[in-house]
Amino acid sequence: MSDLPKFQPLPPDLNEIYAPSAPRDPTRQIFVNRDLNLAHIETVGFDMDYTLAPYHQHAMDALSIEMTVRKLIENKGYPEEIREAKLDHAFIIRGLAVDKETGNIFKMDSHRQVGRCYHGYQPVAVERRRELYSGAPIRLSSKRFAWIDTLFSLPEATLLAGVIEHFEGAGRPLPWSYTQLFDDVRESIDEAHRDNSLKAVITADIKKFISRDPDLPATLHKLRSAGKRLFLLTNSEWSYTDAVMKDLLDGALPFYKSWRNYFDIILVSGRKPQFFTENAPFLELDANGGPVGEALSLERGKVYQGGNVRDLQRLAGLAGETVLYVGDHIYGDIVRSKKHSGWRTALIVQEMEDTLRLTQEHRGELHRVDALEEMVLRLDHDINYHLTLLKSLSRWTDIPGGLTGPESRVIEAARDRAKAELDVKRDLSRRTLAELETMEAAIDRVFNPYWGRLFREGNERSLIGGQVGDYADVYTSRVSNFLSYSPVQYFRSPREVMPHERGY
Ligand code: IMP
Ligand code: MG
Repeated sequence: MSDLPKFQPLPPDLNEIYAPSAPRDPTRQIFVNRDLNLAHIETVGFDMDYTLAPYHQHAMDALSIEMTVRKLIENKGYPEEIREAKLDHAFIIRGLAVDKETGNIFKMDSHRQVGRCYHGYQPVAVERRRELYSGAPIRLSSKRFAWIDTLFSLPEATLLAGVIEHFEGAGRPLPWSYTQLFDDVRESIDEAHRDNSLKAVITADIKKFISRDPDLPATLHKLRSAGKRLFLLTNSEWSYTDAVMKDLLDGALPFYKSWRNYFDIILVSGRKPQFFTENAPFLELDANGGPVGEALSLERGKVYQGGNVRDLQRLAGLAGETVLYVGDHIYGDIVRSKKHSGWRTALIVQEMEDTLRLTQEHRGELHRVDALEEMVLRLDHDINYHLTLLKSLSRWTDIPGGLTGPESRVIEAARDRAKAELDVKRDLSRRTLAELETMEAAIDRVFNPYWGRLFREGNERSLIGGQVGDYADVYTSRVSNFLSYSPVQYFRSPREVMPHERGY
């Protein structure tokens, strides 16, 4: 112990020098789970959809739903009346799971225990929820469940809930099994993505669906100027990628004639997550997007389709830990790239800006919740203390023919005091818990009236919150948030604290 250096507080001016650089707007911060030194990053890769290209969620959901409903009616014989189902676009958030057997939609905590649960727009009673889901953690790999983990997949759950509500809310049985309905919806959405029906509408009016971030060009330029190589790796096909990227970047900075000049390697139709696990070859594409042949090198100015991570690393001379990949899909972009190639990862979570704005606006209430939680813990401790005290005092007073005289009166008085104190603490604890519950419910309603906060479920992190913490090295609301930080920024994670390390 005596070898430990004495604690020396930093003088105030040094505190200022060491303050981390961060954007003024707290909703545009980059959050750190694991230390990431940008000085060691030589190559930065970007996903396109929902990463470089943020979609206007409502417009995109409405379009996907319209296309899907049309396909359900025209190709699968669904009745016209499904168009009348009232669809609440605010009902579905990322991080929910669909139970295809029961039609229920639920949110889980990071231990995969089911929390809030709805059938149509109706909450499922706690007893029924327990009956269905208590016990072993939910296995999302099972065919029974579908995990809504990208913003592209919100409409399928919105449709499922709306159609169930349309029939069952009117007291009519659903004409299909829940599994059938969900699988038909899924298949139709999948087709709408693949047969160009969605993309033809988007490219005809890109601004209606995709927002052009004015800071994106400068962000990419800043990274390039710091000597980093940039690449694009998207699952979108060439013609769509070209149309979207033109809209995002062309003509933005005078010294980049085309969006293609920002990137050293351009990879389309990447088939992530298989890109990270399989060995498809890279095909070079000509100016019209037609395949020229298998690529034996990856050159600046050319476009490649397919491919796999091993060939990318070999042909471009990339070492895993010097690559930062920025994407929006936890599984396809982040988990797989990290597990299979050791890439460092930045997750784009579009919802962060609303989450952070609401957190700021309701700071006071959130602090109150923290204080109430602390108080509940302290009261539990006090109650335990008084219970133990009471028990040991009762041992003296309850002995048959035990203490008599002044000693017994002293002990009885102490016991009465402990009893009275215990009653006071118990009452306080009940009232604190009630206030805590009311406050938490009110705060949850502010964030989302059905599901509460994206990253929390009950007292735990939500499953998606846990995954963001486990797999993304850093996370933030949009790519251009990197503009406020140095290209050699050392992103330091806050020290991880285990429960036993708190409160010494
Ligand atoms: P990325 O995010 O840039 O890798 O690309 C996402 C691509 O996946 C876009 O072209 C989407 O249209 C496409 N996509 C999203 N959901 C589905 C689906 O359910 N089926 C087929 N393609 C999809
Ligand atoms: Mg994406």
